[in-house]
Amino acid sequence: MARYTGPVCRLCRVEQKKLMLKGDRCKSDKCPINKKRSAPGKDPKARPGKRSDYGIQLREKQKLKRIYGMQEKQFSLFFDRALRMSGITGENLFVLLERRLDNVVYRLRFASSRSQARQVVLHGHVQVNGRRVNIPSYLVKAEDVIEIKERSKGLVVIKESLKEFGKSGVMPWLQLDPDALKGKFLVSPRRSDITDLADIKEQMIVEYYSK
Ligand code: SF4
Repeated sequence: MARYTGPVCRLCRVEQKKLMLKGDRCKSDKCPINKKRSAPGKDPKARPGKRSDYGIQLREKQKLKRIYGMQEKQFSLFFDRALRMSGITGENLFVLLERRLDNVVYRLRFASSRSQARQVVLHGHVQVNGRRVNIPSYLVKAEDVIEIKERSKGLVVIKESLKEFGKSGVMPWLQLDPDALKGKFLVSPRRSDITDLADIKEQMIVEYYSK
C-alpha cells in the first residue's frame, strides 16, 4: 500500500493544526506549529481568505486521514464501510479508525506515533489473541488482547515509547499491562470518548463524501 513519504510536519502546517505525526518532537519546542509557522506557500502577513463549504469539508477530511496516516483509497473504503453500518456515519468512521491495529498499538503506547506503530505491526512484532498479525489496518474487536511478541519485547523503540508516553496512561477503552507489554481493547469507543480529536467535525467529512 502506497504511503506518504514527504515532509511530515508540512502536513500539519497545511492544516495549521498539530496532527501529532512525529512522536516526541510533537511535544517539543521544535514543533513548527508551536513556533506559529505559516502554512506552506502562504505569506505570513496575508489575511486568511474565506473558505468555501467544500474547502472546509475537504480540510476536515484531510486532517482526519492524515492523523490516522491513511491514503485516500483506503480512507474512502473505511468511509464506505461506516456508511453501511447502522448508526451515525461520522461516529462509525471514528470507531472503525480507532479499531485499526496500528492505531491500537499507538494508543497502547507501544509506539510514539501512528507511523511508528505501523512499522511495529508491519515488522511482525505484534500478536492479537496470541497470533501474529502484521496488517496495520486489521480491525481489533472488543476483548481482543494485543501483545508485543516475546522475542520483540526487548526492542528499544517500544521500551522508549512506553517510558515516555506510558506515564500519561491509556484511553478509557483500553487496558495496559506495561510490564508484560500487553493490552486489551475492552470495548469500541463512543465518539465522545475520543477526546483528543474532539475538534474534528466528522459531519463535514460525511458531507464531503455525499457530493
Ligand atoms: Fe506536526 Fe508533530 Fe511536526 Fe509538530 S512536530 S508539525 S505536531 S508532526
